[in-house]
Amino acid sequence: MMTNSTNDLVNFLGMDRAQLTTLFAELGEKPYRAEQMMKWMHHRQVSDFDDMTDMSKKLRSRLSELGRVHEAPVAESFESVDGTRKWLVRAASGSLVETVFIPENNRGTLCVSSQVGCALDCSFCSTGKQGFNSNLTSGEIVGQVRMANRLLADVYPDRAHAVTNVVMMGMGEPLLNFDNVVAAVDIMMDDLGYGISKRKVTISTAGVVPGIEKLIETTDCSLALSLHAPNDALRNELVPINRRYNIESLLDAARRYTRNLGEKRTVTVEYTVIDKVNDQPEHAVELAELLRSLPCKINLIPFNPFPGSGYRRPSSMNIRRFQDRLVRAGHSVTVRTTRGEDIEAACGQLKGKIADKTRRQEQYRMIASEAQA
Ligand code: SAH
Repeated sequence: MMTNSTNDLVNFLGMDRAQLTTLFAELGEKPYRAEQMMKWMHHRQVSDFDDMTDMSKKLRSRLSELGRVHEAPVAESFESVDGTRKWLVRAASGSLVETVFIPENNRGTLCVSSQVGCALDCSFCSTGKQGFNSNLTSGEIVGQVRMANRLLADVYPDRAHAVTNVVMMGMGEPLLNFDNVVAAVDIMMDDLGYGISKRKVTISTAGVVPGIEKLIETTDCSLALSLHAPNDALRNELVPINRRYNIESLLDAARRYTRNLGEKRTVTVEYTVIDKVNDQPEHAVELAELLRSLPCKINLIPFNPFPGSGYRRPSSMNIRRFQDRLVRAGHSVTVRTTRGEDIEAACGQLKGKIADKTRRQEQYRMIASEAQA
């Protein structure tokens, strides 16, 4: 349910069009009320029912008994010398998560968090080192887009919205917070929400295969896989969830996801390049071969160091050589530009602020029960 942890009030902000339509039907109201409500919340960024002037007084008072429109507050903001911005957002649990805005020529990409912390413990990720704390609600997830658009409206006066693309690549594993992420993504893609095209909203996963399978039934946004290794032995070390769902099952699920979309769509394969760990010529050869059967674009991410990681970023020349080998094998390969390093906003550097780090086992049990379902 859409309730928050402090009380039983619903947060309307996180309800997608279908959920709102059901809610208004239960209140004996027409479906167009859901559309009005979405426009107030997302287009006009109104949170106070009294300002929703096309609803009757009676309906407004009923809504205020049931819930509220709550956007998680920003605790701190940072701006990088390269224009990247980072906000620390306070979740209902009290912990802080991070949202990052990356401006480029004609677009603005928002990197959105889905959980406080992360259970998956990828060996090269700072968020993973902190363990899992809690899931964000759908309102807390989509609220990050609302917040960024509002705070950046003055910076991009010529654009309808500052945020043109969303990547679910902030803190957390989106597919382990499935329902909330899907509802939030629905609102991002809905014209009555943020109207972002399905190609420009990307869910990134470390490889929760049952989650990808569920996505096939649920949505048509873009998908990114955090692969990081060309074989199971190495991937087991870097991305421990691979011990449960190996590379073959992951690629198979991704193939089914894109095939189901029907049109010509590709998956993004993310590969964090780590010095002497997964950046050798033989890794490139093996990766090129492995990915021949998946319609994909490869995105190389130069490893972003953090204290105590024990890994290093390869030289630019070595990353370039790795890229060239894949390109010569016929793949489409980009290298992600590192942005926002001075404010610790780069991939894998997000750490938020978490009190309780003990809940990794709980998430693992969830994965196990999903696997059996
Ligand atoms: N849990 C999701 C989203 C997380 S982060 C996932 O795993 O896909 C987005 C990307 O940044 C992932 O591919 C992740 O593996 C990568 N990443 C994590 N730590 C990194 C680091 N220190 N340097 C570079 N990339 C990193």
